[in-house]
Amino acid sequence: MPVRAGYHRRVGAPLDRSATWPYEDGEPGRFSYVRADHPTGAACEEALGALDGGHALLYPSGMGAVTTVVLTMLRPGGTIALAEGAYYGHRVLFDHLAPWGANVVEFDQTGPPPANADLIFLEAPANPLLTMPDLEAAATHPAPVICDATVATPLRLRPLEHGTDVVVHSATKILAGHDDVLAGVTVTRDPELRDRLHLTRRLAGIVASADTAWLVHRGLETLETRLARQEATASVLAERLAAHPAVTTVRYPGFSFLIAFDVADGEAAARVERAIRVIENATSLGGVRSKLEARHRWEGDRIPTGLIRLSVGLEEQETLWADVEQALAQV
Ligand code: PLP
Repeated sequence: MPVRAGYHRRVGAPLDRSATWPYEDGEPGRFSYVRADHPTGAACEEALGALDGGHALLYPSGMGAVTTVVLTMLRPGGTIALAEGAYYGHRVLFDHLAPWGANVVEFDQTGPPPANADLIFLEAPANPLLTMPDLEAAATHPAPVICDATVATPLRLRPLEHGTDVVVHSATKILAGHDDVLAGVTVTRDPELRDRLHLTRRLAGIVASADTAWLVHRGLETLETRLARQEATASVLAERLAAHPAVTTVRYPGFSFLIAFDVADGEAAARVERAIRVIENATSLGGVRSKLEARHRWEGDRIPTGLIRLSVGLEEQETLWADVEQALAQV
C-alpha cells in the first residue's frame, strides 16, 4: 500500500474520516478507534467547550445526548423533574424509559423543583412555551441539574455559571445552523462527570461521525453573526405580532430567534401554515431559513390549539413581515 500523504497547510478545518489510527510505539495513542474519540470530533468539542465554559461531548443527536445523560445519571426508580412546556420529545423519551425504572413529573421551572426529584431537567427557554428556568432555585436542590439551552445558545446563557451540572444542546438547531445535520452536545464542569458520560457514550456507541462534527464545527464559525441578525429580526417581528389584531398571545423571551404566537384556534393556525410563501412550513428551528408550524399536531393538549412556532432565519426583516402579514390576513 502507498504511504498516505500528510495534510497540506490549510485554512479550513480538516475532516478525518478514519475509523482507526495506528498505535504509537506499540500502544494506542490519543486516537485509536472512532467509537472512543476522533480528531474531527475532538476539535469540535474543544470549540463547544470554550463557548459554554466546560468539557463538551458531541453526540449524533440532541436526543442521543439526553439519553446518555439519563443512562449515566438516573438510577432505576428515580424521578426526573421536567420543565413544563419544554421540548415534547423529552417527555416522550422519559415515558418510553419507564420500563427501565424512569419516573417523570412536570413542574413550573420558573419556581423551585419538586422535593422528590432525583434529576432536574430545565430548558432555557422552554420550546415552545418560552419560559425561562430559575437556575439558582434549581441549583439549591440536592439533585443534579440538567439544562437544555438549545434556544438560548452559549452566547446568551452559560448555565454552568449558574450552578447547572450538565448543559445540553440540540446542535441540529442554531449551533450547526443550516438544517443539514443532526447532532447533540453535553457540557459539564466536573471532569469526573464528563468521564462518566464519555464512558456511556463509548460503550453504547452514541457517537457523532466525523462528518457530523465537521458540519457542527463549521456552523460555529458563523454562530455569532447568524444569531445577532436572527435575534434582531425576531425582536421586531415579536413586537409587530403583539400589535396584530389576529394574534391573541405572543411569547418571546426578549432574546434569540424563536417566537411562539397564538391565533384563534387550530383552523386559523392551519390557514396560516398554508398561506405562507417565503417562510417554510416545516418543523425544527434555528436554521438560516425561517420556518413556521402549528405545534398542536405534535404536542396535543399541553399547548393551545392555535399556537404557531416561528423560527426566524436570515431573510430580510421586511420580506418576512410581509409574508407573516399576508398569511395572517387569511385568518
Ligand atoms: N432540545 C430541544 C429544545 C429541541 O427543540 C430538540 C428538537 O427539536 C431537541 C432537544 C432534540 O434534538 P435532536 O432533534 O437533535 O435530537
